[in-house]
Amino acid sequence: VKELGKNNFQFYTPEMNEAVTRKMKLEIGLRKALEREEFTVAYQPQINVISNEIIGSEALLRWNHPEWGLISPSEFIPIAEETGLILPIGEWILKEACLQNKEWQKQGFEDMRIAVNISSRQFKQSDLIDRVKKILKETGLAPHHLELELTESIIQDSKHAVEKMQQLKDMGIHLSIDDFGTGYSSLNYLKTFPIHTLKIDRSFTRNIFTDSKDASLVETIITMAHNLNLKVIAEGVETIEQLQFLQQKQCNEAQGYYFSHPISAELMSGVLGGRAEG
Ligand code: C2E
Ligand code: CA
Ligand code: CA
Ligand code: CA
Repeated sequence: VKELGKNNFQFYTPEMNEAVTRKMKLEIGLRKALEREEFTVAYQPQINVISNEIIGSEALLRWNHPEWGLISPSEFIPIAEETGLILPIGEWILKEACLQNKEWQKQGFEDMRIAVNISSRQFKQSDLIDRVKKILKETGLAPHHLELELTESIIQDSKHAVEKMQQLKDMGIHLSIDDFGTGYSSLNYLKTFPIHTLKIDRSFTRNIFTDSKDASLVETIITMAHNLNLKVIAEGVETIEQLQFLQQKQCNEAQGYYFSHPISAELMSGVLGGRAEG
């Protein structure tokens, strides 16, 4: 038992010990994962809710360790972020996803767009712009087919965030605010941020029919976004009822298990080609 202050004790339980051990184990594994080619990318389709067409996909990192099996990004991404390993990993997935999207375009799906999550560390890199430029050049992907997903906290934590975003936008890259509505930032920033899209967090979508406050929040976010000339994509759409609600409220795009789980590039090619999902 460690004394932190009056009436404030922190207990080290066996469970905490286990958690620390697991974290260390994962960190050691993560350090080797790139060179051992243990990462893959899963792609989740994004759908235009009016035309019902796939307009692009979000690239989501998957780590399959030979002994430990699949490890969830929500467990290993924070460790990668803490250790800085997210920098080479983030660069890897960005390049991989751009290459794959270019591949789909070559297969005839010319308008396909790829959304990639950018971590805090990555966004803070002083040479971020050059790195992104280099990847676009190497993969041959046109900038307007790339969308970078940033969270409110990433933007708030970074110096010169708006300038950086503006530079990316000037290159033709699309920017979206991920998990929108879960941060604590003031709405005022929306008019100064050079962004294209708000991505409504899954927690709101989930409760559209169970919490009337969430339903009005979703509606309000959509109206506000459109007034600011921003597009809206809803994440975590799992039911047709949720989709119909979003269509009725003029949400532009949607993503979620109702359409498809994140899938391999091969499966995605099949889906795009009109073959049934396996
Ligand atoms: P996120 O960016 O908010 O990604 C959406 C998450 O929701 C994904 O989880 C996706 O599989 C899941 N999801 C999609 N549709 C549904 C649905 O209808 N219902 C439910 N319940 N879940 C749905 P995943 O792949 O486990 O990723 C978790 C988080 O890990 C991501 O949240 C993102 O923050 C982070 N992440 C994943 N890949 C990357 C990456 O390449 N770079 C960075 N920096 N972070 C990543
Ligand atoms: Ca995301
Ligand atoms: Ca999200
Ligand atoms: Ca999320």
